[in-house]
Amino acid sequence: MKNIKKIVVKVGTSTITHPTGLLDLNRMESIVRQLVNIHNQDIQIVLVSSGAIGAGMGKLGLKKRPKTIPEKQSIAAVGQGILLHMYEKLFSEYGKTIAQILLTKDDIDHQTRFFNARNTCLTLIDKHVIPIVNENDAVAVDEIKVGDNDTLSALVAKLIGADLLIILSDIDGLYDCNPKEYDEACLIHYVDRITPQLEAMAGNPGSILGTGGMVTKINAAKIATSAGASMIIANGSIYNVINSILEGEEIGTLFDADCKILK
Ligand code: GLU
Repeated sequence: MKNIKKIVVKVGTSTITHPTGLLDLNRMESIVRQLVNIHNQDIQIVLVSSGAIGAGMGKLGLKKRPKTIPEKQSIAAVGQGILLHMYEKLFSEYGKTIAQILLTKDDIDHQTRFFNARNTCLTLIDKHVIPIVNENDAVAVDEIKVGDNDTLSALVAKLIGADLLIILSDIDGLYDCNPKEYDEACLIHYVDRITPQLEAMAGNPGSILGTGGMVTKINAAKIATSAGASMIIANGSIYNVINSILEGEEIGTLFDADCKILK
C-alpha cells in the first residue's frame, strides 16, 4: 500500500444508516475522520456514498421501500440532501471542503460526458476538495442507471485513474461459502484471478452473495482491476478500517490490480 496516491472509498447504506433508516452518526463520523486523516497525508480521495434512499425513508418515516419509480426517486431526492448535509458538517469540522457529484450511466458511457465528469473530479481533487459521488437516483431510470454503487465506485475509480478502491460493506469480504450457513467458511484474503468458478461461487444463492451483494462486488473488481486499480472489500464496522488497510494490515479481500479475468 506504500505507493497509493489516489483512492476511491465506497460506503454502503448498511454501513452508514441504522436499521431505522436514520443516519448512523458514529459510523459516519469515524469514516469522515479516517478519510480526513488520509487526505492530510496527501492521498487524494473520492468518496462514493450510498444512503440517499435509506436516509429519505428514515426522514419520511417509511418502513417499506416504495414500489413506484416516482416515489423511489422523490425519496432519494429528500435523502441525498440529508446525506450531503451531514457530510458537509462532518468534513468541515475537520477543515475539509467537499463537493457533490451525481452521475448516471450516460455520464460514463458517452465519451464527451465521461471526459467532462473526469475533468470535474480531477479539478476538484487538485483543489484539495473531496468529491462525494452517488448515482443521480432522482432522475435515473432503468435505461440510464448504473444500478448499484459497487459498480459505480469501480467506474469512478476508472474515471479518475485511482490506485485503489475500498468497498466498505457489512460483510468481512469474499468467503469460499456462506459463513451464515457453514461454520467452516473461510475468508479469501487475496484474489489474483477471477475465474468462472469464483463468479459462480459468488452467484450461488446459497452463498454469501444472496446476503452481501457479492455479485456486484465481483463485477466491480473486474472493472477496477481492468483499469489498473486494486480493490479491497472490507467490513465498515471494523475500528479504523481504512487507515489500517492503508497501513498494510491484512483486512478483508484484496483483488490485485494485475488480477487476471478468466472466461
Ligand atoms: N444510490 C443508492 C442510494 O444512495 C444506493 C445504491 C446502492 O447502494 O448500490 O440510496
